[in-house]
Amino acid sequence: MKELIIHGSNKESRILVGESIKNLSKYLPSEKVIVITDTNVNRLYNKEFNQFQIIEIGTGEQIKTLQTVQFIYEKLIEYEADRTSFIVGIGGGIVCDITGFVASTYMRGIRFGFVATTLLAQVDASLGGKNGVNLNKFKNMIGVFNQPDFVLCDMNLLKTLPDREILCGMGEIVKHTLIAYSAMFNYLEENYQKAITLDNQVIEKLVYESVVIKSDVVNKDEKEKGLRRILNFGHTIGHAIEKCSTDITHGEAISIGMVMASAISVNKKLLKKDEYLKIIDLLKKLKLPVSTTIDKQKIIDAMKKDKKREGASINFILLDGIGKTLIESIKVNELEKIINL
Ligand code: NAD
Repeated sequence: MKELIIHGSNKESRILVGESIKNLSKYLPSEKVIVITDTNVNRLYNKEFNQFQIIEIGTGEQIKTLQTVQFIYEKLIEYEADRTSFIVGIGGGIVCDITGFVASTYMRGIRFGFVATTLLAQVDASLGGKNGVNLNKFKNMIGVFNQPDFVLCDMNLLKTLPDREILCGMGEIVKHTLIAYSAMFNYLEENYQKAITLDNQVIEKLVYESVVIKSDVVNKDEKEKGLRRILNFGHTIGHAIEKCSTDITHGEAISIGMVMASAISVNKKLLKKDEYLKIIDLLKKLKLPVSTTIDKQKIIDAMKKDKKREGASINFILLDGIGKTLIESIKVNELEKIINL
């Protein structure tokens, strides 16, 4: 087990990579612990936490709402939770995002921690202190910055994940290597087969390195005033793709978004063509998509509506070689030309 610390403005957060869920109690107070989890995780792992009071929520992005938050507040009142209670979110990104928000606002904030049970949650969603819910069609519109006391990442929990969910996390791991750590890119190229079959040693190293990268960025810019934006590499186009399609996952959309952002980087003479081809090759080996049949104009139109757009330009995260980024403001009409090449 390896431990890392995220130094949030309000508290330090311990990230426990390779710790077993069986040791969860070590990190909890002896009483007044309440677990928030979803139906799938409760069905699969209930015996690991059934000594605590449990609040079960449904699954899917459509339940990441203020209605679910209200349902949980009411349950907390029923369970007589008070300011000395401790809440643990056990689940993927949705459970973590909702739990963090509920714990930060119930009685003006009580202590909380996460057991991240999806690869995406372990390498991304559970880390960094962003907690919140959607409002109507606006994603993550209502939320707070607040660090959990701990995030426990147990690799054994990933074994029951559907393949598509593993790919989602893999996309974010590739993103981390591309923006910050070229040596890990080489490691992934050499170990991609073991990565997709969740070989314990390989996946633990990949999760750990991802946590190092994300923690480092968050430690320098917790509230996304500048540097943290590099974590959005591939996401500007990725989010637009997600808006244009109902059957694409976040990870798949981000994979295509990263390919397009890399193509723009080549066009700007920042990334070499052979590096671009290596990125495509790695994503394909990891069984992630590298292109889409969605009409490019539709993607551009969706991007124009993005909240990160500033006037006629969009701030783009580009690659200045593998492992290095650069933020460039690109005019929408220039973007249209490049993407339609
Ligand atoms: P998710 O929480 O919906 O989990 C995916 C599916 O896997 C669900 O059906 C869940 O029940 C199931 N599941 C979870 N753990 C399992 C396990 N061990 N075995 C079998 N099934 C399991 O999705 P996700 O991809 O983990 O998270 C997506 C969410 O994360 C989005 O809402 C996104 O906005 C959010 N997110 C937040 C941040 C952040 O910084 N706060 C960053 C990235 C993403």
